[in-house]
Amino acid sequence: MTTAASDANPLLLAGWLPRYDLIQPEHVVPAIRQLVAALAADLDALEAAGPATWDGLVARLTVLSQPLNDAWGAVNHLTGVKNTPELRAAHEAVQGEVVAVYMRIGQSRPLYERLCALRDGPDFAKLDGGQRRVVAGILRDAELSGVGLDGVAKARFQAAAMELAELSTRFSNHVLDATKGFSLTVSHPSQVEGCPPSLRAAMAAGACAAGETAATPEAGPWRVSLDGPVFGPFMEHCRDRELRAQLYRAFITRAATGEADNLPLIERILRLRHQQARVLGKASYAELSLASKMAPGIAAVHGLLDELRRAARPKATAELADLTAFARQTSGEPALELALWDVPFWAERLRESRFAYTDEELRPYFALPRVLDGMFALAQRLFGITVRAADGEAPVWHESVRFFRVADADGRDIAAFWLDPYSRPADKRGGAWMDNVVDRTIRPDGSLRLPVAHLVCNQTPPVGDAPSLMTFREVETLFHEFGHGLQHLLTRVPHPECAGINRVEWDAVELPSQFMENWCYHRPTLDGLARHWQTGVALPDDLYRKIVAARTYRAGSTTLRQVYFSTIDLDLHHSYRPDGEESVLDVQRRIAADNTILPPLPDDRFLCSFSHIFAGGYAAGYYSYKWAEVLSADAFGAFIDAGLDDPAAVVATGRRFRDTVLSLGGSQHPLEVFKAFRGREPSVRALLEATGLG
Ligand code: ZN
Repeated sequence: MTTAASDANPLLLAGWLPRYDLIQPEHVVPAIRQLVAALAADLDALEAAGPATWDGLVARLTVLSQPLNDAWGAVNHLTGVKNTPELRAAHEAVQGEVVAVYMRIGQSRPLYERLCALRDGPDFAKLDGGQRRVVAGILRDAELSGVGLDGVAKARFQAAAMELAELSTRFSNHVLDATKGFSLTVSHPSQVEGCPPSLRAAMAAGACAAGETAATPEAGPWRVSLDGPVFGPFMEHCRDRELRAQLYRAFITRAATGEADNLPLIERILRLRHQQARVLGKASYAELSLASKMAPGIAAVHGLLDELRRAARPKATAELADLTAFARQTSGEPALELALWDVPFWAERLRESRFAYTDEELRPYFALPRVLDGMFALAQRLFGITVRAADGEAPVWHESVRFFRVADADGRDIAAFWLDPYSRPADKRGGAWMDNVVDRTIRPDGSLRLPVAHLVCNQTPPVGDAPSLMTFREVETLFHEFGHGLQHLLTRVPHPECAGINRVEWDAVELPSQFMENWCYHRPTLDGLARHWQTGVALPDDLYRKIVAARTYRAGSTTLRQVYFSTIDLDLHHSYRPDGEESVLDVQRRIAADNTILPPLPDDRFLCSFSHIFAGGYAAGYYSYKWAEVLSADAFGAFIDAGLDDPAAVVATGRRFRDTVLSLGGSQHPLEVFKAFRGREPSVRALLEATGLG
């Protein structure tokens, strides 16, 4: 029986792309339940009988899981970019069932045993390297998710995994609620003195949306919030020290009180993770986490963090002394001691004085449409691909969302992606990310299902008639997410199980993204995207030189901060014991002593909004940013070595990067992929030099 498309549940429509124009919260529960049930029935059949072959087992499992993956991926995406109480409730209602069916695949003893038979059988040697890596990876993940457990141990393990999934959703909802829940409406012009026009406009727009319909950027009232595009600039520009202190305290105590308190959730999460690791025979959750990463072990990670700390700490100390001297002199207060809420403010003043430019001066040169043109031109130069706008050819979830197609040098379409560029604090999660929507798949009829990605940013939206005018950091973020996207979209691996970013180790995943950021400092590339949006004038030479100089500005402090976060993460997941003498906050204080110059406030609860490790995939993996930065800086070093001013050398190196890092994705160990590109193992030198710490 066929159902009219208009009556059908859009989450059940099998197409190339999700129907974001049709999906409503009420579709979620029935569709997901139906797909979970169908997958469970298919699993029954597969477990009962099925050959121990690649096609009959691994590829078959991919095909069977795809409808649920597609639908659940779309639902997850919408909770991130178009969150409503109804959608959140629907998501929560079925999440447990989805987790359970995925866990069943990961923990199926019959499937595990058949995979072992495949690995140990005569046909294994006939598989290609990518396939062998997939089989080994599935087996390892199955072991790490408790396939070897029986009886009570297995039931406990599964219950804990379900609870962990729920805790992570609650954690991130608390952060979202707390961020949305705080605001401060100010109406006296003295309180926004020093705030640039774009910030005033954003704050007036915020006040308008909150009911102060007469609010204007010039006369206020202005709504100060913890939303990224307001909070960051406000801390850098607001001259009212008390107001900055108030806002800072609100920021570092998000989700730390009352019903939305994340501290008990953190303790519970760490307890459950530790318990999981012990059951699997690992000493700690950190050991469990590293078992599937590029880093060979905890000592290697500590080694990198120690090396970075040694280089960064003295630099960071000197930077604070320099900043304090500057603040004392400028403010005329010879005894001024900088507090945590003063640092961003004075750092921005010092940057202005030393480099004599502001984010605001740069914004007019970085209009989103032009930045996109320049970024796509770079991709064409380096990788021989063409990106073209295809708005209207795919459904969108918001009118500002764009759709693009990617074609190879011969004109054939090879991929597509959505770009959701702007901040929408009311219903969109903060930060920026790339998601794979469709993996490159060869269908049974031999046709290709082209890879598709979401690129999501939270940059400043257009105000009035102007296009979105970006800060330089927002430009870098766009390049970053595009880099992730390229690895997903330019894959040539024929197996979706290891195509694109699939099966790429966590700590190597940031290689292409951070690599792309380097191009924002390359003059010819910048010339292609930085033009004054009204006059068309190119970015002046002195501004360019200052951007480059500013790149290593406060690099000691920035590096030390990342080492601080990475060390806390590793310690909480390796040494911390839920019933030990040290509390979570004790751990933070102890680590802060070695890894910060200005100690955190006694009531600092930044851990309560540290979503990366408590609600994201970075548990015992925050170090990955630095680990991958070593790889990305060294990869960009290949272009420097070849000669950035030599177009032929850049093209040749770009094609080699495409043929290795971007094409091979998860089909080989990242160290092998890196060596194939660079001709040797990675070295930390390039990173230290690029950040001025070498
Ligand atoms: Zn990234």
